[in-house]
Amino acid sequence: MFVKNVAEIVDNLLCTGCSRCVLFCPNGYITMRKGDLGFPVPHVAKCNDCGACIRACPFIDLYDEEEI
Ligand code: SF4
Ligand code: SF4
Repeated sequence: MFVKNVAEIVDNLLCTGCSRCVLFCPNGYITMRKGDLGFPVPHVAKCNDCGACIRACPFIDLYDEEEI
């Protein structure tokens, strides 16, 4: 599964709301907002596809790193 940024982790209901990705976006493009399930999830306002948020997410192990 190719994942461009953490928005796709949220869309696939894999996000736990740990907010680690927010800390790792070098551009400050990620903020936490209340998600559809009622808890905070990352919102990606803009993205240059650097991949830092994906590498920071604990759920990276669920994906084939060679695809990212
Ligand atoms: S891919 Fe890079 S620029 Fe895009 S949201 Fe993630 S860390 Fe930020
Ligand atoms: S690092 Fe992963 S699990 Fe944590 S808030 Fe970001 S997308 Fe969700």
